[in-house]
Amino acid sequence: MVPEEEVKLKINKKTWKIKIVKSTDLPPSTLGECDHPGYAKPEIWVKRNQKPLDLMDTVIHEVLHAVRPELSEEAVLDTATVIAKALWKLNYRKMPRNSKGKH
Ligand SMILES: [Zn+2]
Repeated sequence: MVPEEEVKLKINKKTWKIKIVKSTDLPPSTLGECDHPGYAKPEIWVKRNQKPLDLMDTVIHEVLHAVRPELSEEAVLDTATVIAKALWKLNYRKMPRNSKGKH
């Protein structure tokens, strides 16, 4: 299973946290969530128990919401899915996080 994970990313001059979270951290019907970009410390949450391609799709989806909050849900949905499929076909995959002290 994909471990819980947290990274920071600068989006539109703000530092966002992107968190890969347990399934119980989000409602059952929700795969990901994106804070309103107006928040002082905005966060993106993505549920970890998804198929790898779906996880990639959800990360791209939520980041798109953060970068371009004016886009419609439909635009974000379609765009994220196409980008995820393209990256997938080019063999981009999530690597396991480097565990400390094991280099
Ligand atoms: Zn959305």
